[in-house]
Amino acid sequence: MVNLLQFDRAALGDFCEQLGEKRFRATQLFRWLHQRGERDISAMTDLAKSFRDKLAGHVATAPLPVASEQVASDGTIKWLFDIGGGNAVETVFIPEPGRGTLCISSQAGCAVNCRFCATGHQGFSRNLTVAEIVGQLWHAEFDLRRRLHLPAGERAVTNVVMMGMGEPLQNYSALVPALRTMLDDHGYGLSRRRVTVSTSGVVPMIDRLRDDCPVALAISLHAADDALRDELVPLNRKYPIGELLAAGRRYLERAPRDFITIEYCMLDGVNDALAQAEALLMLVGGDGSATRPGLACKINLIPFNPFAGSGLQRSSAARVAAFAEVLQEGGIVTTVRRTRGDDIAAACGQLAGEVQDRTRVADRNARGFAGPAEQRVALPRSRRGPFHRAERNAP
Ligand code: SAH
Ligand code: SF4
Repeated sequence: MVNLLQFDRAALGDFCEQLGEKRFRATQLFRWLHQRGERDISAMTDLAKSFRDKLAGHVATAPLPVASEQVASDGTIKWLFDIGGGNAVETVFIPEPGRGTLCISSQAGCAVNCRFCATGHQGFSRNLTVAEIVGQLWHAEFDLRRRLHLPAGERAVTNVVMMGMGEPLQNYSALVPALRTMLDDHGYGLSRRRVTVSTSGVVPMIDRLRDDCPVALAISLHAADDALRDELVPLNRKYPIGELLAAGRRYLERAPRDFITIEYCMLDGVNDALAQAEALLMLVGGDGSATRPGLACKINLIPFNPFAGSGLQRSSAARVAAFAEVLQEGGIVTTVRRTRGDDIAAACGQLAGEVQDRTRVADRNARGFAGPAEQRVALPRSRRGPFHRAERNAP
């Protein structure tokens, strides 16, 4: 059986051609799938009978099996989807007045292993397929339309953020067709501004995304200097801050918005000192010169969402406010993310799903949090904060 959710419209056209049909048939079929949520080929009454006969028994729209669903007191919904082999991924719907945001996963687990992220702590299991990425949106959109009794043509999901489990730019070949399906006028018809890819900083892939499918971009920065970022986001050792911000500037040449969102997770006593806010301001503020180019951005401060075994704490509300004030006074639009769905552990960084292969991370943790000894970076004394305490031990 061929799962129709794996195709963007161009690939569905190729598939139709392989069946000996005209490419335009793909558009009709695509609309049934992604605009009406129809799975039953025999119900697609405006498709030629001969085409339906060819499809029948050959294709399926295989939805993701729902392992569980939780609804938080604030209306946030979290689905856990079983993707087989002992793996599961999570998807979160966040309703707000006038819009509905879906937070989608791109991988089961994540190999980047950021210090403050529950997904990272699980280790990497596997990339999701196009059908599994699109399937999250398909399920949420049509389930919510039914539940909310939305009038025909009204969308439940108005915004998508690739901020669930996984690093989307480390699953690039599946990400792009999934994004195209979201943007397609014959699919979900979301504007580029309403689809956001969030990345921990895979520099070459930021450039490719700019060329292939420039949607809104969020960069997870979390530190204003390389020594600290190396510890928080290990990928920084490969793509340090200077290169990352340069990629951000290149991205802006094609981005649907004239700024990039910088995400900054507020960790008590780690990255929340006012001097660090000043350093961040210096970094992104810049003056457009070759020596201080800066980056046109908005900053989103995310109070750390704790999870078992992280050994980290959330910055106090007063500290977050003071940090934001430094940035705002420096002329950078800064917002503080409100935590949603915290009674069902649906907030940023709390998505863990069920990941089978924990061995690699367990090994790494046993050697010490910074990874193999030769990669460890000696921090200056003043920086020897919570990272070097014993809390990050092997599970
Ligand atoms: N891998 C991508 C997208 C998924 S994470 C990325 O890292 O950008 C989405 C956002 O949640 C990122 O900004 C990430 O840094 C942040 N995040 C991760 N763990 C968190 C936690 N425990 N508390 C608050 N934010 C967290
Ligand atoms: Fe992966 Fe993003 Fe979590 Fe880092 S924050 S471990 S990149 S999902």
